Amino acid sequence: MKKATVKKYESIVVGSGPGGATIARELARANKSVAILEYGSHYKKKGQMNAISNIYLDENLGLKFTSGGISIGRSRILGGSSYFAQGNAVTPPDKIFKEWGMNLSDELSSAREDLRVNLMPMELIGKGTKKLMEGAKSLGYEMKPTPKCVDYSKCSRCGKCGFGCPKNAKWTSIEFVEEAVKNNADLYLNANVTKVKHGSGNFNIVYFNQNGSVKEIIGDKVIISAGALETPRILQNSGIEEAGKGIALDTFQTTYGYTKDVGMKNEVILAVYIESLIEEKELFPAPYMYPALSLVRDIAGYMPKKFDLPSLSKVLLNLRKVKNKNLLGMMTKIRDEITGEVKNDGTIIKENTESDLKKLDEAFEINRDIIVAAGADPKSIVRGVYEAGHPCCTARIGKILDKNQQTEIEGLFVSDASAFPSPLGLPPILTIVALSKRLAKHLLSN
Ligand SMILES: Cc1cc2nc3c(=O)[nH]c(=O)nc-3n(C[C@H](O)[C@H](O)[C@H](O)COP(=O)(O)OP(=O)(O)OC[C@H]3O[C@@H](n4cnc5c(N)ncnc54)[C@H](O)[C@@H]3O)c2cc1C
Repeated sequence: MKKATVKKYESIVVGSGPGGATIARELARANKSVAILEYGSHYKKKGQMNAISNIYLDENLGLKFTSGGISIGRSRILGGSSYFAQGNAVTPPDKIFKEWGMNLSDELSSAREDLRVNLMPMELIGKGTKKLMEGAKSLGYEMKPTPKCVDYSKCSRCGKCGFGCPKNAKWTSIEFVEEAVKNNADLYLNANVTKVKHGSGNFNIVYFNQNGSVKEIIGDKVIISAGALETPRILQNSGIEEAGKGIALDTFQTTYGYTKDVGMKNEVILAVYIESLIEEKELFPAPYMYPALSLVRDIAGYMPKKFDLPSLSKVLLNLRKVKNKNLLGMMTKIRDEITGEVKNDGTIIKENTESDLKKLDEAFEINRDIIVAAGADPKSIVRGVYEAGHPCCTARIGKILDKNQQTEIEGLFVSDASAFPSPLGLPPILTIVALSKRLAKHLLSN
């Protein structure tokens, strides 16, 4: 029987989040033959509840919990977690790049341009957020408009940035995937990459499951960008056992409180932030309104044990008791320690350390004080559960990767949040895009 020919590419990119989409776009622009293998589908349904039930609460595609009970948001679909992202595009302080021993300033500037980063306009900032700005000011904190990758001429201020922006005003990495495909990249959807094997020549074989069969394609260079929770599992299956040892999350503390007359219902969240605390305390505080887990448990008195449709319906019924019209919220992200691990079966071992808990306590105090100064009744303050959305550092440069992001397997690279040598403690998309631009430059110059 004739054996089917295995397709060969100069570069194979695994994953289409900010890391993967950027590298695919840069290489395809330079006329390299590129394949993008993406685990998920191109999710096109509109509507917040559809996105929550079809993606966010599906354990293969969305929310995961660590051994320490920290929830980690993500989306395993075309565009990766940029689909759910809030559009914040913050440039980290130089201090972090000094720590990394890396100068990313050119790549960051190019990333800001490509993502059309601009400041959240004051006229789109809601009443509740403005109250929090006043409260913060009375305590000596200046809240500044957040840099966002949002085209405000399209934005309708609906506050649904995190559920697939209905107006396509927010940048997602699907934009870069589409550009790569225009430049002749092949896109494989629903392709679950399991491992990479170095061939006897100067190439690598990528194995993936698609439509019930095991398939393979060949690439001179393979770039794994499956996100910090999945990249280490692919590396482990490929023989790099140390991948996944250590993870950081930028864990955040949420706090809510009721006022008599103002709330943040349907406002764009994280519209402003306190920049001065990033360098000073490694904290990232910003107005926030996601009255899901914390409020359902503490105010409405119901916490689901598992996320299936019946428990989702209960959550929704209980959410009616939460009066968003009079609710103010804050979140503060911390720069947590790299501890725990991502195991090969997908389990995430990660507890808050003593130092993390100290920072989270401080985060709560800042959140609470600002909400109360903004007019909330101190007795109504709810201290939320610990959440996260920025998993990183699971295949770090300097540990699993060399300075050019190559693993111990020749031609096998990593370019996503896994590669961060240490966490940022603030929105990472801009830095992930910059890191992929840096790797693209390296690959194209060799
Ligand atoms: C609710 C929420 C809000 C956020 N808001 C912001 C924000 O405002 N600003 C910001 O900077 N960051 C934000 N983030 C974080 C940001 O979205 C992520 O840090 C970023 O998307 C990570 O990029 P990545 O390329 O490392 O991985 P991902 O975005 O996770 O992409 C990985 C891709 O690989 C695919 N994949 C996974 N496994 C496989 C496999 N086995 N085979 C093939 N493909 C695979 C996935 O489906 C996915 O498409 C937010 C995150 C969440 C959850």
